[in-house]
Amino acid sequence: MILKGGKIILNNSLINKDLLIKNDIIEKIDDHIEIPGEEVIDVKNMLVMPGGVDVHVHFREPGYTYKETIKSGSEAAAKGGFTTVMTMPNLNPVPDSIENLKIEQDIIDRDACVHIYPYIASTKGQKGLEKADIISLKDKTYAISDDGMPVNNLKVLKEVMVDAKKCDLIVCSHAETLTIDKNDPKSESEAVKAEIELAKEIGCRYHFCHLSTKESYDLIRKARKEGYKNISCEVSPHHLTLCKEYMMIKDANYKMNPPLRSKADMEATIEALVDGTADVVATDHAPHAPYEKKRTYEMAPNGIIGIETAFPIIYTKFVKTNIITLDRFLDVMCYNPIKIFKLPERKLEVGYKADICVLDIEHEKEYKEDEIKSLSINSPFIGNKYYGFNTLTIVDGKIVYKRG
Ligand SMILES: [Zn+2]
Repeated sequence: MILKGGKIILNNSLINKDLLIKNDIIEKIDDHIEIPGEEVIDVKNMLVMPGGVDVHVHFREPGYTYKETIKSGSEAAAKGGFTTVMTMPNLNPVPDSIENLKIEQDIIDRDACVHIYPYIASTKGQKGLEKADIISLKDKTYAISDDGMPVNNLKVLKEVMVDAKKCDLIVCSHAETLTIDKNDPKSESEAVKAEIELAKEIGCRYHFCHLSTKESYDLIRKARKEGYKNISCEVSPHHLTLCKEYMMIKDANYKMNPPLRSKADMEATIEALVDGTADVVATDHAPHAPYEKKRTYEMAPNGIIGIETAFPIIYTKFVKTNIITLDRFLDVMCYNPIKIFKLPERKLEVGYKADICVLDIEHEKEYKEDEIKSLSINSPFIGNKYYGFNTLTIVDGKIVYKRG
């Protein structure tokens, strides 16, 4: 298969190159590739990227298949340009043991059209009381988290970190102090502060999910300055582009956890993306059924879908505007998550497995409800226009999504 006429990112510039994919491998990248009889896909003037890697999605299966399934979630990921995702463990059953993880893994093996790496829970049943059976699960996962159920018991969290260090797994934290109102930025930053101290003591790899406050970024900068390199964090497209000011919050499709914060915190999130404090963009794709999100704002569950809009939002708001460089775009969407989570290596280079997405950066397009592949439609971005929507996704050399 030849991808013809596209542009790739090389040394921070867009360069015209054709790509030849043979079997599952990128065989050749050259100015012009012409092979009689070979299938040609026209990607003229489109941006050919390594497939996106989203380390934070909720695909709801097993347990909550009315919101999303492994099949619908992975199809939404493929449409969005993501070839690898990591699924959070707030499922039923919770993947906290070999038997429970196998239930999720079997569905992934059967239904997924992109690479899916499941998180295991930090604690049994995500109850925060007793660490999960991390040691026995070490070869079956890349990461540990109780996302959605913050571990506020630092003694238990320390035991999780000790096991994680032994197994060289990364611990991922939804940092939230449950005794402080979550609308207070301190609810996040106080937890970040305490957990950094613990992570420094144990020396495990520690990653903060969806950070959203200036104080949190400052704490991460400080820890790194002190030489602590094993600490990383992600930011989400919604915290980068939405805030609670200017009447921005219209309905429960603007309700998530952490909540939308002040304009100053949104700007601090952008600064973290620009200066490298934030390593990764992750969506926190969190589907909920329409009837759940139609409840009053107070009663509706937290979370929005995001995997079909992450590339266009980040491209339009931050790359097209030159707020971040092309290289940084590659790093936060693709390469940093692979490095930080020690995932199987993928590169847009000859000899690597062909995991590729192709973004239409020339045309603006409206994000419409009827195009959504996710089972749920809880997005505040419906009706917005963006550049950079994905048009083609290839996983291990096979086309798993093609627009139109
Ligand atoms: Zn979370």
